[in-house]
This record gives sequence, C-alpha cells and structure tokens, in this order.
Amino acid sequence: MPVPHPTHTAAALTLTRRAALASAGGLLLAPITGLHAKPQPASPTTPAKPPAAPTVWPQALQVPGGVARLSLGPAAARPQALVRQGEVDVPLLVVGDAIEWTAIVGIPLAAAPGDAAITVRADGSGSPRPLHYAVAPKRYKEQHLQVSPRTVDLSPEDQARYERERDHQAQVMATFSEQPAGQALASLRMRVPVPGRRSSSFGLRRVFNGQPRNPHSGMDIAATTGTPIVAPLAGRVIDVGDYFFNGGTVWLDHGQGMLSMYCHLSRMDVRVGDVLQAGDAFCQVGATGRVTGPHLHWGVMLNRTMVDPALFL
Ligand code: ZN
Repeated sequence: MPVPHPTHTAAALTLTRRAALASAGGLLLAPITGLHAKPQPASPTTPAKPPAAPTVWPQALQVPGGVARLSLGPAAARPQALVRQGEVDVPLLVVGDAIEWTAIVGIPLAAAPGDAAITVRADGSGSPRPLHYAVAPKRYKEQHLQVSPRTVDLSPEDQARYERERDHQAQVMATFSEQPAGQALASLRMRVPVPGRRSSSFGLRRVFNGQPRNPHSGMDIAATTGTPIVAPLAGRVIDVGDYFFNGGTVWLDHGQGMLSMYCHLSRMDVRVGDVLQAGDAFCQVGATGRVTGPHLHWGVMLNRTMVDPALFL
C-alpha cells in the first residue's frame, strides 16, 4: 500500500506539524495535546518557548466577567448552543465554519467558580449534549464610598422611573439577531470607541454608605464632552434613550446576542434601526446621568451578560 499523501485539511496539517516537531531532535518528550500544551524544556538552562498561538478575539479568560471560547468541533451547519441563566435558556454566539465551530460564552460577574456547562445541539437534530468548562475564581477590588444619602436613596418618583427603565433595558438586552449589519461576523476584534485614559475598573465592587451596589460592569474612558465616539464593530442601533443612571445611552447589536452599550452621552446622532460600520462616529462623550465628570461608560454584552470590554481590544 502506498502511503497516502497528506491533504490540506486541518487534521492533516496538525499531524504534519506534530511529525515535524517529533523529528526535531526529540526535544519534545510529551505528546502535544493542543496549543496550550507546555513543551518540555531541553534542559533547565534553555527553556523552550511556548508555541506562538495566533491572537484571537475576544481573548478567553474563564473567570467571572470573562469569556470562554468553547470548541464545538466540525459540523456542516452552525450548531446551536445555549446557556441556562436563571429560568431561561439563552442562545450563545457561535462563530467559525464547517472545520470548527466555537461558542463564545460570556461568564456572569456573579458566577460561582467551579464547573459550568452549556448545551449544544447539532444542526437542529440529535439530542442536546452538555459541554463542561471550568470557571476560575477572580477577586475584584472593593471600593467603599460615603456619599450624601440623597444620592443613594431614590425618591419614590426616581425609583419608579428607574424600575420602568430597568424593565425596558432588560428587553433591549434580550435582543438576539442573526446578522443585523448584513454581514457575517468575520472578526470580533473591536477598536477603541474613543481615545482617552481607559480605566481597569471592570468588576469593581462598590459599596455606598455600607450598601453594596451592582459591580462596575463596563470600561470607563475619560474624554472631554463632545469627543466623537465610533462604532467598535459593525452593528445596528437597537436603543437610544435618556436614562436616570446611565444618561444619554445608545445600544448596538453586533449579532447573535453580542451587544454594546454607550452611556453618559451628550449627543446621539442615530435612531433605532440605523446600521453602522466599524469606525462610524455615532455619538459624543458627555456627563449625563449619575456621573461626576465627562467620560464614556462602555459595556460589552454576550448572552445577556456584561463582560470585560478589554478582552475585545
Ligand atoms: Zn462606568
């Protein structure tokens, strides 16, 4: 039997690479199990470099507030992946092609470390199968602030307004569309929506006058009022409003439950239904809502879960 010539499939290329590495002086004693396999150093003084994995966005960081990238393997059609959140099965963002599909899972800031799972159903047929992954612990910083009681305890009218707006926002956050911008999600890498100093305060747990508040679920970018903000990725405008806490706010839908949110805006130059390309200016930095100074609060959401925008940059 002649030895079959390797074909240019991903599996064949992997085998070829593996064979080449195995013949390279026998430096790699351990089997290569994947990109994250740790090569054995040739000697204690010359540690081998880990293989340079191509950078992909969003970067995987399996902690509360982070992102898991879970391989669903090959399939002719895009599989459906769901995650149980509360009482609801929420559809997940799935990217890739017939060679390999990947579910991009937003991990809630409130997630408990340990075992987590999604459900995968191939092409509408077959029974759903669970796919497990591990969430590592992450301790976010805590900030205690003493402020005027009036800014913590809302008046009955403000409380009623806040609750109305919260219900409306929940509807906006449940948006799931296939390809709203009329194009496939070729890359999930985002550009910075506005130049300025970027806070690393995502996940910060704030306690006002001893009362714990929701953790900070976005990135703050300091910039002066009127600075233009651009779409970090193509998307469709799904909400424009002026809200009690968030002030002037725009939500963009990037497809399959991936949304982004822009708050405290001084100007909003779009309407619901507008389609933006990456880099299109659509609103301006401001200090509206509950803020102490002008900045952009930028949120990125996957499967109705706010995740760290830094993972997309
Ligand atoms: Zn913020």
